[in-house]
Amino acid sequence: MAAASSAARRVWDSLPPSGSAGAAAPAQWLGQPEQPGAPELAGQPTVQSLPRNGGPEPDELKNLVLLNLNKNQLKYLPSEICRLENLECVSLDNNELENIPKEFCCLQNLHEVHLSHNFITTLPEEIKHLTKLKILILSRNKIEYLPDGICKLKRLKVLDVAGNNIQIFPKAMGCLQLEELYCEDNPLLQKNPVSAIQEDDILTLKEITARFIFTQLENRNLLLCTAIKGNLKAQNMLSQRQECAQCGHSFLSMWLECVHFIDVKQKRMKTSKNLQLLPVRSLLCSYKCFYHRDHGLFGISVL
Ligand SMILES: [Zn+2]
Repeated sequence: MAAASSAARRVWDSLPPSGSAGAAAPAQWLGQPEQPGAPELAGQPTVQSLPRNGGPEPDELKNLVLLNLNKNQLKYLPSEICRLENLECVSLDNNELENIPKEFCCLQNLHEVHLSHNFITTLPEEIKHLTKLKILILSRNKIEYLPDGICKLKRLKVLDVAGNNIQIFPKAMGCLQLEELYCEDNPLLQKNPVSAIQEDDILTLKEITARFIFTQLENRNLLLCTAIKGNLKAQNMLSQRQECAQCGHSFLSMWLECVHFIDVKQKRMKTSKNLQLLPVRSLLCSYKCFYHRDHGLFGISVL
């Protein structure tokens, strides 16, 4: 790898990013690095890992804006990547990444991230911190669930998750202001209602206790508030709180997973061919709420 200089601001190869969204690459990406000697890592002898220690000092790379490491054999990203704080565009297509470290989500200037054709199974919840992100390409990976945090990316315009293992989208998916969504080649839940026998709710003692505590906290039980303030373990546990889509009450770890379908034709965005209904997750606290649910909400059956 060539030594980096502090003047290196553009690192890109001669090809546009290869996400199946076909998002147009900014013109400047197509050019050569501005400075002779700036690192070009894509299309060169294969890179298998990035330096942790002993590589260029972070300050030498702090002005890096674009980073292209397409078509290498990277298996992981070092957590030190968070030091490249001015990065705006990262392309890591065609590598062997299995996950993205949460430190990657400290790169708050990122506008565009390309991660297609890797082996990624999950994304960190911390992705919500990438508030400037406009384009996120995750096609051809092994993702089963997108984190709820992705729905907090208010500036996200293009999301490509084609060719993954996604059945259902996170519950606040409808809040995203997407212009393009690509999700073909996923085993998305279909709207084919069947009737099923419902069971009774049998909650664990932990769940019963948690629901009692949530109710007490909502009612401002001062004794309980004080006790929990001094108990970090309890705070961490209670921070996993979820809210019932029917009654609005809080619960902890036992719920009934349901689905509602968003008609993407009403969303006026470009989508995968043949996509009409987008399955979106909803959680209910009990079968009691299921019986009184909104008619657009369905239980999920495995046939
Ligand atoms: Zn409920």
